[in-house]
Amino acid sequence: MSKDQKEDCIFCQIVNGKIPVDLVYESDDLIAFPDINPKAPVHIVIIPKRHIDPNEDISGTDYPMTGDVLKAAKNIASKKGVAESGFRLLANVGADAGQEIDHLHFHLLGGRRLGDLG
Ligand code: 5GP
Ligand code: ZN
Repeated sequence: MSKDQKEDCIFCQIVNGKIPVDLVYESDDLIAFPDINPKAPVHIVIIPKRHIDPNEDISGTDYPMTGDVLKAAKNIASKKGVAESGFRLLANVGADAGQEIDHLHFHLLGGRRLGDLG
């Protein structure tokens, strides 16, 4: 467990390979893998390798990683065949959004007509 990670965090354990996943994308700063409880035919979770709590300040050194998320999303959408049909990219932050895991993550959803937000 590196200093960039948190012992009891499920997503840090995925980054470390302790919990196996099918990697859909990997870059220096990110990995992406299928959600264990998919809400759409395509439901991929994109996370930074570093444990970042979205309820706390995201530091300036993390800004390039956030740009990489958009690049990852495009790459994953193409791989999963939803680049043309469309997809949604979102992050749940805090209680009202239903955030369950305190490691910053983005959901990429597609493969069906998605309902209104909220
Ligand atoms: P949140 O509700 O915090 O935005 O999203 C957390 C997501 O992580 C949920 O959609 C949940 O299904 C997913 N998840 C939780 N535990 C695991 C896991 O061990 N493996 C994978 N692949 N996804 C997980
Ligand atoms: Zn973590």
